[in-house]
Amino acid sequence: MIKIPKVKVISFDVDGTLVPTGFVDAVWLEGIPSLYAQKHKISFDEAYQIVTQAYNEVGDHRIEWYYLDYWIKRFDLDTTKEELFNKYKHKVKIYEDVEPIIKLLKKYYKIIICSNAEKDFILFQLKPILHHFHHIFSATSDFKEVKKSKEFYGKICELLKVKPEEVIHIGDHLIFDYLNPKEIGINAFLMNRNQHKVELRIPVMNNLEEILKFLNY
Ligand SMILES: [Mg+2]
Repeated sequence: MIKIPKVKVISFDVDGTLVPTGFVDAVWLEGIPSLYAQKHKISFDEAYQIVTQAYNEVGDHRIEWYYLDYWIKRFDLDTTKEELFNKYKHKVKIYEDVEPIIKLLKKYYKIIICSNAEKDFILFQLKPILHHFHHIFSATSDFKEVKKSKEFYGKICELLKVKPEEVIHIGDHLIFDYLNPKEIGINAFLMNRNQHKVELRIPVMNNLEEILKFLNY
């Protein structure tokens, strides 16, 4: 097994990597449509169609798509982000391997988050383990970028004063968590929690413990 030399920073994506998507899905696909249904006195299914169509029309290449407050305002819903988050807090789950591994790694490395999600979603879901992280970067909230581009990763390296070769990034999106960071020389790994068959010749992990094989700590 080849060890990665001189690692200083280990970076994690959030949704699909540290947490399942249940909470996020509940807020967007259940919370917003059900409030819309109540407001317009229509069925949930009708509201769901209207709301998801509006999401698609805006599309994930526009920054508003990521901002919950934009949608609350646009649909003129009688709620707040906090209220919606609290309504679905029972759906927040952190994968079991996350805290033990992060506790171990933080003794030797800077542990950071690099996510596309709006910052409040990250802070709410990771509340019990937030103190372990050295820094939390949200592409959409901190950089007003809709995707984790290679420029985004470049800026992170600059801010942390490290070279891309000194960074490991782990996430579940082929382009935003693997190809883009890889392009500037970051050691990237694709997370495949659900163990889908991956027919790609790239480094894939099924859980976080697998990272330990690559490290000399
Ligand atoms: Mg993800």
